[in-house]
Amino acid sequence: MADAGDLNLSLTPLAVVVTTPAYSGLGPALTYVHDRPLEPGTLVRVPLGKRELLGLVWEAPGLSLEGLEPGQARAVLQVFDAIPPLNAAWRGLASFAARYYQRSLGEVALAALPPQLRDLQAEQLARKLKRLAKAAAGNPKTQGRQVNQAADSEPQMPESLSVGDTKAGPELSPEQAIALQRFQAADRPALLFGTTGSGKTEIYLRAVQELLEQDPQAQALIMVPEINLTPQLEARFMERFARWGVVSLHSGLTPAQRLDHWLAAHQGRARIVLGTRMAIFASLPQLRLIVVDEEHDPSYKSQEGARYSARDLAVYRAKRESQGRSPAHCRVLLGSATPSLESWRAAEIGRYLKLEMPQRIGGGALPRLRLVNMNHQPKQCVLAPALLESIAERAARGEQSMLLLNRRGYAPVLACHACGWKSDCPHCSAHAVFHKIDRTLRCHHCGYSSRVPYACPGCGNLDIAPVGRGTEQLEEQLVGLLAHARRADGEPIRVLRLDADSTRAKGSLEQQLAGMHEGEFDVLVGTQMIAKGHDFRRITLVASVNADGGLFASDYRAPERLFALLLQAAGRAGRDADFVASQGAAVELWVQTWYPEHPLFAALVQHDYPAFATQQLEEREAALMPPYSFQALVRAEARTQEAAQALLNLAAQAGEPLPGREHLTLYPAVPMAIQRVANVERAQMLIESDSRPALQAFLAAWQEQLQLARSQPEAKGVLRWAIDVDPLAI
Ligand code: ADP
Ligand code: ZN
Ligand code: ZN
Repeated sequence: MADAGDLNLSLTPLAVVVTTPAYSGLGPALTYVHDRPLEPGTLVRVPLGKRELLGLVWEAPGLSLEGLEPGQARAVLQVFDAIPPLNAAWRGLASFAARYYQRSLGEVALAALPPQLRDLQAEQLARKLKRLAKAAAGNPKTQGRQVNQAADSEPQMPESLSVGDTKAGPELSPEQAIALQRFQAADRPALLFGTTGSGKTEIYLRAVQELLEQDPQAQALIMVPEINLTPQLEARFMERFARWGVVSLHSGLTPAQRLDHWLAAHQGRARIVLGTRMAIFASLPQLRLIVVDEEHDPSYKSQEGARYSARDLAVYRAKRESQGRSPAHCRVLLGSATPSLESWRAAEIGRYLKLEMPQRIGGGALPRLRLVNMNHQPKQCVLAPALLESIAERAARGEQSMLLLNRRGYAPVLACHACGWKSDCPHCSAHAVFHKIDRTLRCHHCGYSSRVPYACPGCGNLDIAPVGRGTEQLEEQLVGLLAHARRADGEPIRVLRLDADSTRAKGSLEQQLAGMHEGEFDVLVGTQMIAKGHDFRRITLVASVNADGGLFASDYRAPERLFALLLQAAGRAGRDADFVASQGAAVELWVQTWYPEHPLFAALVQHDYPAFATQQLEEREAALMPPYSFQALVRAEARTQEAAQALLNLAAQAGEPLPGREHLTLYPAVPMAIQRVANVERAQMLIESDSRPALQAFLAAWQEQLQLARSQPEAKGVLRWAIDVDPLAI
């Protein structure tokens, strides 16, 4: 080995970002050396301690080896030079996300890469890419195309579909044409406020098509809340844009698929990426359009690691991609029938361009709201008699109904009326849910599962009974209640249940949805997953069995979420205007409630989202809630609740002199709503400010205090803490 002192003379120092814990004290990047300069964004493998890690070369102006002991900076082990570096816009996105969401750069940047890349040697990747290139060259028709397939298999393409084929879409309605035209001319983010069934998806498809036709390099990113729930949408994109290369990015892919799809986007072979929130970090060197479908959906907010909002990052990313070019170089389109109040307000004050499509395609009417006053129904009734009758009548005419209940399992809890025993999870401050199908008690928070006891564990009473109702029970009761009724073909009515339990097996959701589309079933029962995005053609009735939980929840966003859910669910009904007309059907949304006078329903009757939003925003403004203030939540987990709270309170005291503090309110630490999960105690502290910069400055400086507080005796037993900026639930 040559003397390290000599070596340094001919070596270039490099800043390399690796995965380091959020608060490791190691700083944003580590210094390594290499025998030649490497461009920022280059992927490398570097040593750290005894390990070998994937790293990203980062810009570090003025970095030198001065001040370092000779040999202290270790050498880069491998350079992934078979792929281009991640570009400046991508790096800008990663460092913004790290800063804004208060995480380390390494944690954000490396987590944004496909996990398989971490285990790959540079030469393995090079070989893989050669194989891919060869496969594509061997078959000219597959050039630039990458489909949903396992790694390394040669892309297949039907012979009939030659390069240049595009399945054309329908002619746009006048409303769609205007919206699209205004979007194409927009100089800022656009909010497409379109009623359910107004043809928003068609706008996305057309915007993508026009862009890709006009710019032979351009790439588009389409984000959806949950891809598995909407196989139809994926199919529409795949079908229409096969020739341009469409890949998906979501957590349902195998690691090999995820790497393949990521590479296709990074190398520009795929020009369209369709994905869930993680896709916001896809490397798209020619990105010129981002669409966020159902932009209000809470699943865009990550609930682990860096708690980013993919919707908000989409807006940032579009701006960043346009930097130094025309402001419209990369456009962003947020679409929803019930926009988030944040986006709605941004559109109201002109920060976003508001595009409206109030009409349904085909002129179909929106469902009429029928409130069922549960105070006037027979005692103990599950479904109002009139609702049952309406479902039966529809089934007899070949129409379908959909019933929404936001609780899976058979019953939320089992109880003994003799001694008061309840089926609590032994590890969480929550009930274990009764699942009758396999006679288990399951905790939906920690995964604990046990057999249903034969007798009450408290007193031996044999008569333990379910309390409350979940989808399993609703399905069972519905079958009983409709036993007398018949379908159009004289057969008994068929009920399908769709929830996280019934769709666990791979492909089962698609299969069950297909059955629904083909009219095999008459009634669909499920959790909110059935309310999302599906283009059902024969549903004419949607019912919410018990929505009241959302009316009085302590979470200030609960009404917004309930309103969105009900309107979205209602949007599944009457989507095919011709079918409705030929049936002479009454398209209806039934809501069973004990509080029919609640103001939320007044706006719902009118399908008047703007009125609802205005009223909610007034309340938020009066209470200085977001979007009129900015929030962060710090959560601590510990062996004891006292320790978790102590950490937060100690750090709050220590944070008094920090920058921005005078613009902030720090509330005392409190237990989280579900205080204990998997035997870990959880506490949280809310921080509020009317100034985003002040909040940001404070949080950045405060992390050190949080970390220091861990070593205080009062905080003994603290396991971790994490900051959530712009939390969705407090
Ligand atoms: P949204 O996303 O707003 O709920 P979709 O884009 O799913 O609405 O459109 C609803 C239905 O109308 C779909 O079946 C779609 O294929 C159809 N559709 C959309 N635009 C048109 C159009 N211009 N002409 C005919 N049908 C259309
Ligand atoms: Zn008992
Ligand atoms: Zn549990």
